Amino acid sequence: MFRRIRSYCLFGIKAVPVSVEVDASQGLPGFTLVGLPDNAVRESRERVISAIRSIDKVVTGFRTTVNLSPADLRKEGSALDLPLAIGLLVATNEIEVPDLDSLVFVGELSLDGLLKPVRGVLSMAMSLSEKSRNVLVIPRANEQEASLVEGLRYMCADSLGECVGMLESGVLRCVKVAEGLKSCRQSALRVADVPDFKNVVGMECVKRALEVAAAGAHNFLLVGSPGAGKTLCAKCLPGILPEMTDVEILETTRIHSCARTAGDSDAFKPVMVRPFRTPHHSASMVSLVGGGTRLKPGEASLAHNGVLFLDELPEFNRSVLEALREPMEEGAISVSRASGTVTWPARFMMGAAMNPCPCGYAMDPKRACTCLPEARKRYQEKISGPLLDRIDIQVSVPPVDSSQFASRSLAESSAEIRKRVCMARDIQRKRFAGSRFKTNAEMSSDFTKECCRLSRETEKFAVNAADRMGLSARGYYRLLKVGRTIADLRKSDSVEIADLSEALRYRAFRS
Ligand SMILES: [Zn+2]
Repeated sequence: MFRRIRSYCLFGIKAVPVSVEVDASQGLPGFTLVGLPDNAVRESRERVISAIRSIDKVVTGFRTTVNLSPADLRKEGSALDLPLAIGLLVATNEIEVPDLDSLVFVGELSLDGLLKPVRGVLSMAMSLSEKSRNVLVIPRANEQEASLVEGLRYMCADSLGECVGMLESGVLRCVKVAEGLKSCRQSALRVADVPDFKNVVGMECVKRALEVAAAGAHNFLLVGSPGAGKTLCAKCLPGILPEMTDVEILETTRIHSCARTAGDSDAFKPVMVRPFRTPHHSASMVSLVGGGTRLKPGEASLAHNGVLFLDELPEFNRSVLEALREPMEEGAISVSRASGTVTWPARFMMGAAMNPCPCGYAMDPKRACTCLPEARKRYQEKISGPLLDRIDIQVSVPPVDSSQFASRSLAESSAEIRKRVCMARDIQRKRFAGSRFKTNAEMSSDFTKECCRLSRETEKFAVNAADRMGLSARGYYRLLKVGRTIADLRKSDSVEIADLSEALRYRAFRS
């Protein structure tokens, strides 16, 4: 008997509808699987047959053909286990399922019939909810992801046995309707342990620079001796960035859902706080920008709507850093494969930290630098001009004054700083209404000129400064953009000399 079961396959972060067609007939017993399956899918037969045996049903003894359609799409992973099992059970008349056409199945099976979570369920749920009143049948460990998509009708089970039981007793009784993000908002998920600026005493100039960076979504670079607190300061950043909107939460969570390890039963949490990703400097191209045989998103995509922080910037492989230029310009990464091109969103604020020289003490007043001038030069040259060109704010981090170690006083809290950042972002939202930009950092040069409205005197100051420091045209506009953000932070319409001279301080490197 022929039966068709609906399911989904993941391609990048897109969920593509797939049908599992099962035909079981009398004849010489055998099993054929066609339709571009990868190894994990080809092996699913063993898992599925064993799982079905665990619920005391028998589907062997037939001549069985399984086709995965569309046939030209490469099917990957283990999410097709459950639809295949259900397909075999109905095609051999072991179970009877009413309304089979309105059900969409995904899930991995273990040999003893347990249902294990798969990756990308949020993408599948989003794709399904757009269309119809279908019901998504998923492993219980994926329930939290499905519940994020408001209005989605879904059903979850811990094992094949439980799933079959529900199907036989009538699906409608077991269907749940997802509440959407409302359910998470009230819970404590939002309060993540982001370090707070109130515990960072001193370093006022660095904090101010990060406030400006956060307000205009500028990329930043911190240069300072080892142990000066560069990383600590940067880690506080998510606490002063505006809260994520519902759309941003879904966008980012969706990428994280596709990146999770299939079969990992740890509870999956929606990403409610802006991500702060810190890839190690030994990171490969694939782990940073995504790809690989499983086509998983990389760190740059996982940092979508948040911060990608590269500590020890010169230690990164240069070609890996160059690959980041595409997402920094486009806000997305494309990876080409024989099977097609996959695009992942990757709009992040890039942060980086580095020592001033290989030994690290070139800027330290108390310790002597032991590096040869050439070594220092070579070290700094590891970062290419074009990359440096995209980093608007570059500050040096002075070593902490030892008198401040004993200080008990608290500094201004992240919540206070965030208020100013959000206010500056509001001004930008109004400014860019109807344009393709969202923040000052994204402005084109024409737009920058138009938005900055310099007085004659201020313009003279800017041109002189650019001349004196040998700024490129791009460098000049970068100066104006940062100046625009500083003026936004004090709610001023016009950019003044004071704003530009503060912006001039944010260039520890010149380019
Ligand atoms: Zn040195």
